Amino acid sequence: CGIVGYAGARPALGIVLDGLRRLEYRGYDSAGVAVACDGQLLTEKKAGKLANLEKVLSERAAEDPDGCAASPLGIGDGTTGIGHTRWATHGGPTDRNAHPHLSPDGRVAVIHNGIIENFAKLRTELEDDGVTFVSDTDTECAAHLLGKALAELRAAGQPDGPHLLSAAMQVVCQRLEGAFTLLAVDAAIPGAVVGARRNSPLVVGRGDGENYLASDVAAFIEHTRDAVELGQDQIVLITADFIEITDFAGQPASGKDFHIDWDS
Ligand code: GLU
Repeated sequence: CGIVGYAGARPALGIVLDGLRRLEYRGYDSAGVAVACDGQLLTEKKAGKLANLEKVLSERAAEDPDGCAASPLGIGDGTTGIGHTRWATHGGPTDRNAHPHLSPDGRVAVIHNGIIENFAKLRTELEDDGVTFVSDTDTECAAHLLGKALAELRAAGQPDGPHLLSAAMQVVCQRLEGAFTLLAVDAAIPGAVVGARRNSPLVVGRGDGENYLASDVAAFIEHTRDAVELGQDQIVLITADFIEITDFAGQPASGKDFHIDWDS
């Protein structure tokens, strides 16, 4: 229901949680985050209000004050992250079904708004391939497809880096039917967040040495008012320094630049 992504120089976890709070008015039943930190992904997700998620994160921070979950206290150093508030459509509102959903090795995290109409067919195909599903959502198939596409591109000799993430997202989007805003991060590609959209909104917030992605400008309006609205069937890659938009075939594309001049 609500989606936020951040790539920049500041600790991402607090920024992502603040963004999710700004989207709370839309209603949701669960929340979750993933932050690339020290070559790993910190992920946490919880049914119920954002306060439930924040409670678990602060418990983790207290147990390991130098660890990645300590970011809200300004200690952690993960500066790339994504966050989600869920309004369940496929699978009940449980911890397990909350987003992010992960690739089997836990190194790729995906969040999703919308409905993947052909998820049953994709799930059967992936299960036949030996993938074990751990949730009842339509979203999880996108996480597995992305993990698989990244592995295949690496095996084909494509170098690691932000563009690997957008190339893999192209492969995934070509398989999906329905409505989706997707964001993803890969522990092996810190510094980059990839997003994609079809029949569901996604906007970019252009910052100074940092960039944002969100389902609604409300998520980043306190940080920047320069925004780009993505067009239908587009993929966007953000890092601290650049925003790059393509279509699902990887051809350069552009969104619609606008300035947010209403009061927040
Ligand atoms: N269809 C997905 C699910 O049920 C995403 C729902 C949403 O847009 O929050 O998990």
